Amino acid sequence: MYIRRVEDKITCFVVSDTLENARKIIVTNSISSKISQLVRPEIRALQAYPVGDASGMIKLDAMENPYGWSAELKQAWAEFIQNADINRYPHPQALQVKEGLRKVMNIPEQYECLLGNGSDEIIQLLAMMMVGTEGQPATIMAPEPGFVMYKMIATFCGLNYTGVPLQADFELDMPAMLKCIKEQQPELIFLAQPNNPTGNLYPLESVREIIEASEGLVILDEAYLPFSSRNHLHLLDEYDNVLVMRTLSKVGLAGLRLGMIFGQQAWLHELDKIRMPYNINILTQLTAEFALQHYDILMEQCEILKAERSTMTEQLNALGFECYPSEANFILARVPEGKDAKTIFADLKDKKILIKCLDGGHPLLQQCLRFTVGRPEENQQLIAALS
Ligand code: PMP
Repeated sequence: MYIRRVEDKITCFVVSDTLENARKIIVTNSISSKISQLVRPEIRALQAYPVGDASGMIKLDAMENPYGWSAELKQAWAEFIQNADINRYPHPQALQVKEGLRKVMNIPEQYECLLGNGSDEIIQLLAMMMVGTEGQPATIMAPEPGFVMYKMIATFCGLNYTGVPLQADFELDMPAMLKCIKEQQPELIFLAQPNNPTGNLYPLESVREIIEASEGLVILDEAYLPFSSRNHLHLLDEYDNVLVMRTLSKVGLAGLRLGMIFGQQAWLHELDKIRMPYNINILTQLTAEFALQHYDILMEQCEILKAERSTMTEQLNALGFECYPSEANFILARVPEGKDAKTIFADLKDKKILIKCLDGGHPLLQQCLRFTVGRPEENQQLIAALS
């Protein structure tokens, strides 16, 4: 038994095998009661973004580019970054990086660019920027199933969130989208194009209809652009309520954490005020600068992945999976009749292949798995394991 006294008063006592364990129990109890008093309930109810342990696995779960860099390229990179002024703060606007991005992405002069520590950070900045109406917090709207961070960020920034279900074939339910826009006039709408986890592009006409119906800001999230047949930069010329967001994560630089958003200067000027100073560290800046000088190599890798996507789709279909058309570096597939997604996921994990099981994540994703396209030999191991 351990008794804690403060100024001669007994504050609590616990029964435990050792004094040390008793102290631990008291501290744990005291912290959890402080958390209930001090932490917002919606945050207590959240689950942190789940990232599984992938050590020693074939990683086909997180839409990364599976190709690393050649020894020569790594050597050149090491030389490029070795003179980094690590004792100094990095350039606050990362101008060289922005210039490199403009070049490889053909961004017209008139559009401004803001960088984030991954596009996740930019989503958070957007959420923090918006004001609500009549004392209500602002609302974020996105089609669902979609990228989970839109909802998570809305929740922890204290915003309302409305997810509008897609149709069963993962196309937009336009009457439902337009109804929701009319009734709620969300301040922010996220359209991931291609969408994650479904991989499809919505008809451009529908995207335009949503932008035109909305008084809020529409973010076209082009995270998977390197694998897609359509970009939306031209919409910046046509509409004053559109911004285009991209990332270097899927093209082969997930470890850098570099996201970007392009649009009219006036919008990005406001967003820049809430960006943390120096949010892009010096190693990210220099590495991005270097990588953008070798962007053609990354693009070639993306081309291989696109070809692999077709091969993999055919092979999965031949095994009885129902693959949905993908314009991204992953394939969403429903498992064959009579099979169970969670069991297949677990079996693959036993065989050291990590994919994403979406069953249970959304009603439309029942019995669905998501396969990131890997290197040909990795994909073949997956197909062999599934066979
Ligand atoms: N948007 C979409 C649609 C995504 O799928 C992801 C990552 N899965 C992101 C944004 C975030 O990318 P980043 O690595 O730049 O934070």
